[in-house]
Amino acid sequence: MNRHALGRIRRLSVKESRQCLSDRILGRVSEQVLGGNAPAANDAGTVAKEGSRIRRCYQRRRLLTFLPRLRHGRRIYTIAGLLHQQQSWTIPIGIIVTSDFDIAVLGAGISGLSFAHQAARAGLQCLILERASEPGGCINTVRIPDGFWFELGAHTLYNSYGSLLDIILALGLKDRVQKRSKAPYRLWVDGKVRSVPSQLAMGELFVSAWRAFTEQKAGRTVEEYYRRLVGRGNWQRVFGPLLAAVPSQRADTFPAEMLFKRRPRHKDFPRTFTFKGGLGSLVERLPRHDHITLRTNVEVQAIAREGGLFAVQTTDSGRALVRKVVLALPPSAGARLLAQVAPEASAALGKVGFAEVTSTGIVVKKRDCRFPRLAGLVPLDDKFFSVVTRDVVEDERFRGLAFHFRAGLSLDDRLDRIAAVTGTPRASFVHVAEHATSLPSPNRGHAEIVSALDAAIAYQGIYVTGNFFSGLAIEDCALRSRAECDRLLRDLHRE
Ligand SMILES: Cc1cc2nc3c(=O)[nH]c(=O)nc-3n(C[C@H](O)[C@H](O)[C@H](O)COP(=O)(O)OP(=O)(O)OC[C@H]3O[C@@H](n4cnc5c(N)ncnc54)[C@H](O)[C@@H]3O)c2cc1C
Repeated sequence: MNRHALGRIRRLSVKESRQCLSDRILGRVSEQVLGGNAPAANDAGTVAKEGSRIRRCYQRRRLLTFLPRLRHGRRIYTIAGLLHQQQSWTIPIGIIVTSDFDIAVLGAGISGLSFAHQAARAGLQCLILERASEPGGCINTVRIPDGFWFELGAHTLYNSYGSLLDIILALGLKDRVQKRSKAPYRLWVDGKVRSVPSQLAMGELFVSAWRAFTEQKAGRTVEEYYRRLVGRGNWQRVFGPLLAAVPSQRADTFPAEMLFKRRPRHKDFPRTFTFKGGLGSLVERLPRHDHITLRTNVEVQAIAREGGLFAVQTTDSGRALVRKVVLALPPSAGARLLAQVAPEASAALGKVGFAEVTSTGIVVKKRDCRFPRLAGLVPLDDKFFSVVTRDVVEDERFRGLAFHFRAGLSLDDRLDRIAAVTGTPRASFVHVAEHATSLPSPNRGHAEIVSALDAAIAYQGIYVTGNFFSGLAIEDCALRSRAECDRLLRDLHRE
């Protein structure tokens, strides 16, 4: 058996788990791999049995050692060929999707994608399972047919995002970096656009601001820390609502250390940037790797231990057997999935609160929109937490605005509010897009929850990443993914 043939077998198993085997193919593969007794094409029960048999071969990782013992090595090429020929795959009931993946990454937000990126570069075969129809999670670039795009979720990257910059460089995406031009952030007060300083009590600010040199964030909540820096009145009237715009919820009880971190800047990147085509360009590029298979529209329903492996069950009756499992989901989803396999980790995840964010975006023709050119707008008191515009990457024809609303409003209410705030009639909206997501709501004691989680998953073959460890920013996600992937590689090395 030459090395080339072995390589093809490995790709065969990856291909097989990427798609479901049709009963016809499975029958033929069973016949050729297992040496006869092929089931009848319409006998689903027998097919399932044969499927289990193949799965067991993979599960014990014996396929690679088993096949070389076949007398007729050429058959192996035939099997690979059969699978490549099959264009449209069907999913017969009862067929089990098996896999030869090293890891399953659950969730294709930036945390899952950056984890898979690093694991794939280290040579691991990664299966990413994503519930939505597109990867990205909180990163959601909306594109309309005219070529215009705007961000309905995250919008800004900074040159202080060191680990993300490493990924950008590794992907060769630096030439796609798009500098964000300067545009102001303003407040929305009593139906008018106002500057931040115009709303501050300056006397109170001057007598408080010196504390910026002495106050420590450690052990303080956001309110405790910032109230002392800006004064009680300024906090209540301006800074409380202003900081609520960051996580689309009041951040008063967040640990102060989780917002606004100082990180070294990398001057070879613009201070703030996106990509040509928006942050979606990064999301699309990340899973493009030989060792990564991304399946969208599949919700992970359950995880169970099976022998030394994990069986990951999806709502479309798919099942993958993997050596290690990586959770890159919102904490509530992680808590549910770990309830059986790691109850203590599940309990820790269950303690992380979260807030629903409903984002509604509109595209309008430039000439139809009188709203001033802004990077963003934050209301002191309204139905939305913030507005983020595409004005920082100007377009000749269109403008795009994303409103991040409090939960519970109907689409009609939201569109009416957008029309009122922008002074643009609904009839002028060229495009409307919606996205619902959730962001964590960490509180005092969050560090202890994270420590308990980390202790509970150590040496369990379970890795957890996300935006609820040291912070919510994209860089915090990339950092946590890098640390967890390093732990995975150390564990594999030890084994
Ligand atoms: C409106 C908004 C603006 C933001 N702006 C910025 C910004 O400008 N800069 C910045 O640095 N950060 C920003 N952030 C924060 C940052 O975008 C997020 O914290 C980060 O993208 C979260 O990534 P994640 O992968 O951890 O989680 P998510 O993006 O939430 O990804 C989790 C994924 O898991 C999937 N999933 C859930 N359950 C299942 C299941 N059972 N099976 C399979 N898949 C499942 C979800 O569909 C989702 O795709 C913003 C966030 C929001 C909401």
